[in-house]
Amino acid sequence: MDRATLLDDTLAGHRLTEEEGRFLMTATSGRDVFAIAAAADECRRKRVGDRVTFVRNQNLHVTNVCKNTCGFCGFGRPLGAPGTYCFGREEVRRKAALARDRRVTEVCPLSGVHPDFTVDSYVDLITWILEGAPGVDVHFCSPEEVSYVAKKAGISTAEVLERLRSAGLGTLQGTAAEILDDEVRQVICPKKCDTATWLRVIREAHAMGIRSTATIMYGAGETVAHRVRHLALLREVQDEHGGFTELVPLSYIHQNTALFRAGRAPPGATGREDLLLVAVARLFLDNIDHVQVSWGKVGPKMASLLLLAGGDDLGGTMYEDEVTVDAGAEEASYMDPGAMARLAADLGRTLWQRSTTYELLREAPLS
Ligand code: SF4
Repeated sequence: MDRATLLDDTLAGHRLTEEEGRFLMTATSGRDVFAIAAAADECRRKRVGDRVTFVRNQNLHVTNVCKNTCGFCGFGRPLGAPGTYCFGREEVRRKAALARDRRVTEVCPLSGVHPDFTVDSYVDLITWILEGAPGVDVHFCSPEEVSYVAKKAGISTAEVLERLRSAGLGTLQGTAAEILDDEVRQVICPKKCDTATWLRVIREAHAMGIRSTATIMYGAGETVAHRVRHLALLREVQDEHGGFTELVPLSYIHQNTALFRAGRAPPGATGREDLLLVAVARLFLDNIDHVQVSWGKVGPKMASLLLLAGGDDLGGTMYEDEVTVDAGAEEASYMDPGAMARLAADLGRTLWQRSTTYELLREAPLS
């Protein structure tokens, strides 16, 4: 396979096969890696132009109690474990009101899957958030959470989605995808829903007009073939309804996780792997416009390089991210839009504030 021809063809509209995706993602020489990144950069420029976007959002950690205790996660703890918490109405409303005061347009509850939670719990949480911060996009609930409470209640996942939407859900979280391969899931998150369930719930949501992010959590021991297969599944789903707003690549933070400590996972992805994941995703996903750079996972300097390799979005301001901090990334909680604007300006691009669904709101000034 000739790399230069393949990249030229892809920029001219060729849809990469999985075999071609694997070929690109396994590049190791500087010449090859940077040629792929340059092609992805050009693909990004053609698709979405020279803006870098971000969303003013706030994470809201409702509980760190989690029935799943995934091996790659340092945040979720079993019910009754030391240091666990679960906020009620007042605390959730207070945190949401703080988000409103910070002029965020999105509140993103990031929590464990509490074993006692029901559909009503999620409806209540959405209601409380909207009481504290009316009008925000409540970006909430993964397919895992939807399928868990549906099963408990003996109702369909479509019914759960309808109830969440009626309560005010804005967009669904595309989390819990990790790597969409059941053998990998058996190792890294055996208690989570399987691949078929994740895909089914996402398809249902998109068919109902509820949009979501798409995520990939990589670097915890899966192969390049798994990563590319995952991208292929996302591309298939996107062909049907176009419901994904973006791809969010999440590089595994290993330090404080059981999987790494037990010697069952490597110490995360390398810089080359981070670069190629973003670049190949940009080239492979010809139907998802936006590829996010998760500065909390890779740090601001690597984020800058990923914006040169196909990335066009810096995600959210976040304000808190205990999930990433607890896993071992110390500076993951907040990035000021001024710092984001400097990152963008350094690359000759401008920073724009967007909504959750990528409506452009305003250009963010350099400060
Ligand atoms: S990744 Fe999510 S589901 Fe898994 S243990 Fe952590 S909080 Fe729970």
